[in-house]
Amino acid sequence: MHLNFDSAGALRKATGRAKSDVANKLVSMFLHEISRRACAAGGSVVSDSQYSSIVVKVFGHQCLYCSRDLEPDRAAVEHLDGMNRFRAGLHLPGNVAVSCRRCNSEKRRDDQRPRLVLALSGWESFLSHNGSRCDEKCKTCAYWVSIWPDLSTRTQELVDAGDRIRSFRSPFARFIRWSDAARPAIQLRAEGLYRECQNFATIEIEKLTSELSFDFASLTSTE
Ligand SMILES: [Zn+2]
Ligand SMILES: [Zn+2]
Repeated sequence: MHLNFDSAGALRKATGRAKSDVANKLVSMFLHEISRRACAAGGSVVSDSQYSSIVVKVFGHQCLYCSRDLEPDRAAVEHLDGMNRFRAGLHLPGNVAVSCRRCNSEKRRDDQRPRLVLALSGWESFLSHNGSRCDEKCKTCAYWVSIWPDLSTRTQELVDAGDRIRSFRSPFARFIRWSDAARPAIQLRAEGLYRECQNFATIEIEKLTSELSFDFASLTSTE
């Protein structure tokens, strides 16, 4: 049996992933800090009981996207605009709700696109995949087809979910307006932070490794 293992390629990919993960964590910290300041200024906290009672009042104990019952251990804190450098979503009232794990992970595909084509925001884009606007390979469309096979039911359910979310967000209009206005500046800085972190990692690791001046030559095989 021949085991084909591209260890050099695997290591290169893992390094790239680690570098990107570190940079994404910094972006996340940046977005959390902005969220903390905006919450303090706006006098509202996402974690207080008043906020969660509004979430429960609008969505019940159901996923805000697919309306399936949330099993307590399978529920995820969901950011309507994802907290990454592309969507620049914030942990603010009106952007935080609860979804099922499946929707939370299926929505990530749209959240991680530098540019959206179906809608302006991540959550609206996610709900736009009704199976009639993408090519047949679209995984998000396939996801919604698996839940509601019939096109007209599916289209209606997705529209209803969007309407529910809009009405949920209406009491938090000032936070949403503020986030919308701040988004371009946040995206720009977050992108800069992401690049700078990656450069820092590359340069610093190269420097540290050189400074150690290991005798790599002794590893040269003579056998
Ligand atoms: Zn769901
Ligand atoms: Zn689609």
